[in-house]
Amino acid sequence: MPSVLSPPPTILSQPIQFLKGIGERRAEVLAKYGVRTVHDLFFYVPRRYLDRTSIVTIAQLRQTYFRPSNQPQEESADVQKDYTVVGDVRSFRVMGMGRKSRFVLILGDETGTLQCVWFGGVNYWKAKFQIGETLAVSGQPTAFGGVLQFVHPDVDRIAERQSEDEKDEVQIDWSQTLNTGGLVPLYPSGKELERVGLDSGGFRRLIGNALRKSLENVAESLPGFILKKHSLLPLRDALGNVHFPKTDSDLNESLRRLKYDELFYFQIKLALKRQRVKTDTNGIAFNVQSKLARRLVDSLPFKLTQAQIRVLREITADMESAKPMNRLLQGDVGSGKTIVALLSMLVAVENGYQAVFMAPTESLAEQHFKTLALLLKGIDVNVRLLVGGQRSKLRRDVLDDVQRGSAQIVVGTHAVFEKQVEFANLGYVVIDEQHRFGVMQRQSLRKKGKNPDVLVMTATPIPRTLSLTLYGDLDVSVINELPGGRKPIKTVLRYEEEKDAVFRFVREEIKKGRQVYFVYPLVEESEKIDLKAAVVHFESLQNQVFPELKLGLIHGRLSSEEKDSVMQQFKNREIDILVATTVIEVGIDVPNASIMVIENAERFGLSQLHQLRGRVGRGSEQSYCILLSKKWLAVRANKLTGDSTKWHEALDEQRVAERRLATMVQTNDGFKIAEIDLQLRGPGDFFGTRQSGVPEFKVADIVADTQLLEEARQDAFEIVERDPHLQLPEHRIVIDHLRALYHDALALGKVG
Ligand code: ADP
Ligand code: MG
Repeated sequence: MPSVLSPPPTILSQPIQFLKGIGERRAEVLAKYGVRTVHDLFFYVPRRYLDRTSIVTIAQLRQTYFRPSNQPQEESADVQKDYTVVGDVRSFRVMGMGRKSRFVLILGDETGTLQCVWFGGVNYWKAKFQIGETLAVSGQPTAFGGVLQFVHPDVDRIAERQSEDEKDEVQIDWSQTLNTGGLVPLYPSGKELERVGLDSGGFRRLIGNALRKSLENVAESLPGFILKKHSLLPLRDALGNVHFPKTDSDLNESLRRLKYDELFYFQIKLALKRQRVKTDTNGIAFNVQSKLARRLVDSLPFKLTQAQIRVLREITADMESAKPMNRLLQGDVGSGKTIVALLSMLVAVENGYQAVFMAPTESLAEQHFKTLALLLKGIDVNVRLLVGGQRSKLRRDVLDDVQRGSAQIVVGTHAVFEKQVEFANLGYVVIDEQHRFGVMQRQSLRKKGKNPDVLVMTATPIPRTLSLTLYGDLDVSVINELPGGRKPIKTVLRYEEEKDAVFRFVREEIKKGRQVYFVYPLVEESEKIDLKAAVVHFESLQNQVFPELKLGLIHGRLSSEEKDSVMQQFKNREIDILVATTVIEVGIDVPNASIMVIENAERFGLSQLHQLRGRVGRGSEQSYCILLSKKWLAVRANKLTGDSTKWHEALDEQRVAERRLATMVQTNDGFKIAEIDLQLRGPGDFFGTRQSGVPEFKVADIVADTQLLEEARQDAFEIVERDPHLQLPEHRIVIDHLRALYHDALALGKVG
């Protein structure tokens, strides 16, 4: 890196070892938790706080315990109220023997005495205190045999033994105490952290000391005009306050400042990335007048929807320009993304380039392969399938075709990323279900081509908050309309007891010529047992409920030939009811199937339910989705034996499940469903996979902090728009901070 990029003097960019109290061992463990620099540590904010601002005399403490007022305590999820007492050590001793021993200390003030009790570690405690010294202790009052106690209180030493006169002089500065008085931070910790002394108290000491010593060397990270615009606290104040706040409002303001900081720099990086792509003119400028595409459109048995036409225009405009395309295509299941992708691939093919179509699983790749082959019947384009499980002879043949360029469209899985796969002339990349691939993988694919255009697709409607962070550097096209002639699916919730009525309804619809899915959940931990349950279930449906009908069973353990054969029978209407585990979630298209019964619907995730439902409603008949659920609270409650935490967990789980089912009944709108799913699950789990590239923020919460995210994004993009290289003096702070802390963002690499 050129020397102009030398970082400015801010302590934040220093490695964590720079701090006193951090050796190699701690540094190593902290790194696992994403804490590598002083910045990381200072942004390692408390999980919650103990409110120890309430400083009472022992008499007052006695009063609150033995005669609590009827006033309910104001409860906040993040702050627990404790009491703090200041007194001097009157006596202490070890009581009991061996494992039952405990350390008892008597603290006194002018209003009474208080017992402090610690179980275990008596030798440690014995050596810790001196008679007569002044302590502050914080905790929750309890009583044992009528004696007022604090069990395992937190302690700060306030003063050595003093004469009676001096005692009145003691002025306590609560901002200097780590464990008592004020709002006391509780830090997230874990076994490994605890082993190196970094339990919550350890963090408190470490961060407290670091702040005391180094806060003045923290450089401001946001320009003055931004601070003013949003009335944000200076960084130093915010950092000091967030760890050791004096009041609630201090805390909230500090959090707001740090969240903004984090979101702003995230968005600045995206803005720079996007800027780079915009000015990059080394992409391929395709001629988008495509005879092949025209021929395909003419051969389709349907007309493209307005939405499909619109997104095709957006895509081809990108393809025509010399900038590399980076576009996200969002569209609900069944909205017709595949045909859009294929049409755009034909443009690339007609220009003499190869196109690749990536699917997340082999069976999906196979389905896409078949679909494309079918659609391209009579159009002379060579489509090849490249997946992991292929025999070596076939594989060599495919690789050869790819390398020579005679494979014009390649449908593949992760197998395409492998080194041996070389393209003659890759110019266009389509990635289906994009969140199931990593950013690095997108990049590696780019490198296989000549700066190809990239279209990523997703059927998971992505809430705006998430797409702003996850895909903030992409252009977005949305297919917001389903192909015509489709009636909205009617969704209902039915309980087990109403099953017979459901069966009757199913039978009537089948008599009218419809077909039906029965979906059965699998829970991964015990796939074998589950599968057995599915088989048993299938047999009872076939033998007891619908003996006169033809049923088929499909599940993940079948070979792909077996699956194909069942699917084929279903398509040919040789099967009336297809009993399935969730393998039918993606990619199945049987328009005559108009009813889906989802059993144990409370066990499915919201997005998954929505995806499943997308398998019906594909024909012109009225479709139905019937969610069957146990009145399961009663069932679970019976199993619980008086353990109130479990009971509450079960209730919470139930509430969430009910919300999911109610949402399904209320709406077919994938975006609404996605928003609710995001709220229910949190960003990390939204896609059901951790490696989906959803950024993890230390302070901000992209679900709760949408507003702030939008503001930070707007500011960041405006700044980069106006000053792409951040050269203006008022942006000095931004570039300095980026250089110090986010040099990767300035390493002007390619976009993923
Ligand atoms: P997606 O991949 O977005 O879930 P598909 O591309 O699989 O959706 O399309 C779903 C079904 O709708 C397919 O059978 C497809 O042939 C059909 N289809 C696509 N576009 C249209 C259209 N404009 N009119 C009618 N049917 C369409
Ligand atoms: Mg699809």
